[in-house]
Amino acid sequence: MPTIVVAGAGVSGLTTALLLSKNKANKVTVVAKHMPGDYDIEYASPWAGANMLPMSTAQESRWERRTWLELKRLVENVPEAGIHIQKTRILRRNKDLDKASKTFPDPLFHKNPWYKDMFENYRELDTKELVAGYDSGCEFKGICINTAIYLPWLVGQCLQNGVVLKRAVLSSISEAKAMSHTGATADIIVNATGLGSLKLGGVEDANMMPARGQTVLVRNECTPMTVTSGTEDGDAEVLYIMQRAAGGGTILGGTYDLGNWESVPDPNIAVRIMQRAVALRPDLAGGKGIEGLSVIRHGVGLRPYRKGGVRIEEEKLDDETWIVHNYGHSGWGYQGSYGCAEGVVELVNKIDRAKGVKL
Ligand code: FAD
Repeated sequence: MPTIVVAGAGVSGLTTALLLSKNKANKVTVVAKHMPGDYDIEYASPWAGANMLPMSTAQESRWERRTWLELKRLVENVPEAGIHIQKTRILRRNKDLDKASKTFPDPLFHKNPWYKDMFENYRELDTKELVAGYDSGCEFKGICINTAIYLPWLVGQCLQNGVVLKRAVLSSISEAKAMSHTGATADIIVNATGLGSLKLGGVEDANMMPARGQTVLVRNECTPMTVTSGTEDGDAEVLYIMQRAAGGGTILGGTYDLGNWESVPDPNIAVRIMQRAVALRPDLAGGKGIEGLSVIRHGVGLRPYRKGGVRIEEEKLDDETWIVHNYGHSGWGYQGSYGCAEGVVELVNKIDRAKGVKL
């Protein structure tokens, strides 16, 4: 009967706990410093848009492809998860695609992207449909998640499956060994501590750094969601508009600023974010410019960026316990959540099968 402790209660930890708990033999405990309901600079998940703008290459698309199937199922069959269908538009400028340094990884802005077969109704935009200043674009039926509904929904699903959640601040990953609600020593620790993996004892992954994302959440709504390949305000500043499900407001973004730890929203950046959004979509503010925006909150989240990409792999802690890592999702933690959690389940099953040999 594997005893599993998941460290971290962001979208990565909770999705992993949920999938692991579907096997009734697994006894799953989640321990975390932050839980759904908290808004904190050390907790990325509540700050996300969150929608599905594929960022992987065709070769590495497994995490996002698998996740899309599940998110689509939730949109269609589970309204209480707080996800809705939203048409998504991607606008490209040739000068951004040609530039060596870009704010988003290339694959999202490819003219013939791998994901064109994944989304329904994918099509290239006609030149008549393009906003002035953009050279090309595409549109597809995407989704947007209301993180304030979705994260508590994940907790509810975990609780229903017998997962126990506990607050704890770990100074070392090995402390999780003794934190199962069963009282037994953990056979497996899942490390889903996001950016925390930079400093967490026993992990201390120097490849981790923040990709700071500043946003403005407004009551105004407009559809379709839109993202552009670049802005005139420097490489760290980006432009996206995402309308969340179920009255969650609209997220205006933003920034993607590598290495910046600043937790306080910068008022100048905030003004630029709002100006860019209403310039692209004047209808968002009823044609009144940024004066027409009704602000709910200014936000900053630190995406858990990892040089070299996400870490999903097993590691032996000692003779009793294995660690399975699932961190470093940067700006795609939601859109890769189910695929990555499935990857963890595969590793956990592999370790469990080899018990006695490996443990
Ligand atoms: P986190 O949510 O940061 O959770 C980490 C957990 O580990 C927390 O519970 C924390 O308390 C715990 N922890 C850490 N250290 C310790 C410790 N020492 N002891 C105990 N507990 C610890 N993704 C998308 O897919 N689509 C989007 O549209 C999107 N938009 C984004 C927009 C912004 C502005 C930002 C900031 C992010 C966006 N993201 C998006 C990215 C997404 O939010 C992240 O990839 C995701 O939330 C990472 O989740 P996580 O569970 O790995 O980490």
